[in-house]
Amino acid sequence: MRAAIYIRVSTEEQAKHGYSLAEQRGSCYRRAISLGATAISEFADEGVSGATLDRPGLNALREAVRSGRVDVIIVRDPDRLSRRLAHQLLLTEEFERAGARLDFLDFTWQDTPEGRMFYAIRGAIAEFEKEKIRERMIRGKLQKAREGGIPVGLYNYGYTYEPQTGRVSVREEEAWVVERIFQWFVHEDIGVNGVARRLNDMGVPTRKRRGLWHRMVVRQILTNPVYIGRWRYKGIDISVPPIVDNTLWEKAQEKLKEARRLWAGRGRHDYLLSGLLTCGDCGNSMTGVYSQWWGVAERRYSCRRKNRGTQITGCRPGKMLLAEPLEQAVWQQVCSWLKDPDKLARAALESSPGVEEIHAELEHLEKHLKEIERGRAAVLDALASGLLDLDAYTRDKLAQLKRRRERLEERRAELTAGLEGGTAGHQGLSHLRAVAVEVLHKLDELDFGTKKSLVRALVARIIVSGRAGSGGHDLSGVEITVVSRIPCVETGESGDP
Ligand SMILES: [Zn+2]
Repeated sequence: MRAAIYIRVSTEEQAKHGYSLAEQRGSCYRRAISLGATAISEFADEGVSGATLDRPGLNALREAVRSGRVDVIIVRDPDRLSRRLAHQLLLTEEFERAGARLDFLDFTWQDTPEGRMFYAIRGAIAEFEKEKIRERMIRGKLQKAREGGIPVGLYNYGYTYEPQTGRVSVREEEAWVVERIFQWFVHEDIGVNGVARRLNDMGVPTRKRRGLWHRMVVRQILTNPVYIGRWRYKGIDISVPPIVDNTLWEKAQEKLKEARRLWAGRGRHDYLLSGLLTCGDCGNSMTGVYSQWWGVAERRYSCRRKNRGTQITGCRPGKMLLAEPLEQAVWQQVCSWLKDPDKLARAALESSPGVEEIHAELEHLEKHLKEIERGRAAVLDALASGLLDLDAYTRDKLAQLKRRRERLEERRAELTAGLEGGTAGHQGLSHLRAVAVEVLHKLDELDFGTKKSLVRALVARIIVSGRAGSGGHDLSGVEITVVSRIPCVETGESGDP
């Protein structure tokens, strides 16, 4: 750190108080050393009034600071620099702008009226400057925004922004990805996580080129109205070219809301019907509870609410249904639908992607499958030639590549099945039929996760009316209405497992 010390005494001070340069010099040097200075230069004005700025020593100091040769300026008190507040402020500003810091020895000066005034005014000026700059920037940006140009960059994924012209255009390869994100999320029940995982499996690069897609990024894309062409800047809507249509975007919002609802209903244990059950008597949704009955803890669904306001506390006493028989009843219904896939499939038509889109996605898939194969081959080669050990890391790497390949192949099978229907209108049909056929022969061995996603795919809502006896075990007095997601299928059926 390079320090400069500035010392000054006026003729008057010398005569009146016997002040000398030597006394100032000593304390300033000590201060410089205690601050860790590696070089100290001295600037002095002897017998010069502090009323003028034109002093040889001060001029030399200002020159040294301007040329960047000083990091810290040590002065006994601001009076040494100037006796006038305006000059003090001017010099302070000049030094700080040049990157040098002022250090006053005499700290008590800060507590004098002059000192307080100095800092108050300096603070006010700094605040004023900041505000002025901020306002100027915002005004400039708003002006540009109103003129239809885009102010500070629109750096969202899917768009290109030219700072010179403020022009925003769609970046084709990214826009394709954005559209896939929306399509997958809306039409397939893979969730935000599933979308992120598929993007990673496909090796789709992120904006930063490095790193993986994170569910938060996918969520941000799904919720951003910029993709229907509405970019909000400081409360102003600016039109940009849209990437997805309004209907698709709205569907995504609905599904996100639904996902949040489902998430909210999740308990400590797995509940097949959480988020789908409504009590037909009080209108509350029924959530999973793990409760005791005669000393035995079991999974149940209940419409009772705690601390949620008096109006929606639910049935009194709260309705309690044993989870197992209820879930079985609904599952039977879902199975019967799966056995008649055509009925189901017809309704799924509107949510199927177009032929061109499937082809484009297949192309991507093939490319990335090849890359994975190359990666695997490279690892295996390295192993064979002894360049790599078959340690935990390598094994993990190989397993990872294998998993990615399997997921991509699954997806490819799905897409190809979708294409077999021929025309775009039949893709959904054959796709769904394929899923149903695949699932039908192993309905009893499906794991909980698969069952849950099947239930969710086919069931919109389940309404339960009436009360169960024996702590929820006896469902004979209960009517279960399963509302299908598919309009053309009969809704409602009394469940009897
Ligand atoms: Zn109820």
